[in-house]
Amino acid sequence: MSTQNLEKPVVNALNRDYDRERNFSFLENLYLPEIFKGLAYTFKQIFKPKFTMQYPEEKWDPPAIFRGRPVLVEDNGRERCVACGLCARACPPLAISMQANEDAADPKERYPEEFQINMLRCIYCGFCEDVCPEEAIVMSKDYDIVFESREEAVYDKERLLVPKEDLEERLEFLRKYKNRQFGQFWDFQQDNNIHSVRDRDREWNTGLSLVDMIEQQEEAEDTDPSSPWDR
Ligand code: SF4
Ligand code: SF4
Repeated sequence: MSTQNLEKPVVNALNRDYDRERNFSFLENLYLPEIFKGLAYTFKQIFKPKFTMQYPEEKWDPPAIFRGRPVLVEDNGRERCVACGLCARACPPLAISMQANEDAADPKERYPEEFQINMLRCIYCGFCEDVCPEEAIVMSKDYDIVFESREEAVYDKERLLVPKEDLEERLEFLRKYKNRQFGQFWDFQQDNNIHSVRDRDREWNTGLSLVDMIEQQEEAEDTDPSSPWDR
């Protein structure tokens, strides 16, 4: 245990332990060999393939797993979002705000009259996408975001909406990797709108309710010893 008096400032702590310092050879003291070694390494890299891009003329196309700017999915000309508020609740920096309204033609259907994401707050965590029951908010490939004022950084619904056709890769990625617990039943949830009353009349391929699906899944797991994660 050291008996050093921590209240007394040590002027130069390194000097106290100089015996353990490495002694440089004559060549090392010259520094020149190391400088030439560095230059030789740099020279070798000139002839190797380059991985840098001439941004912004050349743009990187990220893979589907990439989490860029969160966007709202536009499906057949309208937002999928039913303004449930889960994403706003899950968002750690409180970047999302919305105002729900009801559809006059279908009073049971809700939609966001206003939906805003403050991109100065967003940390691209993807929690909003994870909790959304409608696959209505997803992480896009957009990383090229510039604002000139704080007001400009608040994206409204019009700026957030992106047609689902432009988000195919991410939606496909989510279908493949999100909510794997549904196992074999995941395949036919093409639009993942099973919770929405908007789609309550949709004819599902199986005609099963969600409860039926889970029961069947559990039965299948009881009889099939292989892991449901591999299906
Ligand atoms: S990605 Fe994270 S921080 Fe950004 S809006 Fe979604 S939940 Fe909030
Ligand atoms: S969780 Fe999804 S459906 Fe609910 S408010 Fe957010 S985007 Fe809309």
